[in-house]
Amino acid sequence: MWMMEKITPNRIDEIISAEIPDIEINKDLHDIVSKNKIYGPCGSLNNNSLCVSDGKCTKRYPRDLLAKTITGNDEYPLYRGRSTEDG
Ligand SMILES: [Zn+2]
Repeated sequence: MWMMEKITPNRIDEIISAEIPDIEINKDLHDIVSKNKIYGPCGSLNNNSLCVSDGKCTKRYPRDLLAKTITGNDEYPLYRGRSTEDG
């Protein structure tokens, strides 16, 4: 899919979330994501994972926590994944 206009980080956050849903707000969604969408462990914690090549995760996990979604130079966004300090 190609977008006609460049999407801004705020618009990305309206469409995509890389965070675990709050259990107090939506328990069903929290449970689904926790059960089916948690990645890893891989890399130094599990070199037998299929995503590991030369000791590193080819999917670039684990990723740093970010307070805000940012768009990188390669057009792939780095999604917001807030730490407990960031809410
Ligand atoms: Zn991996």
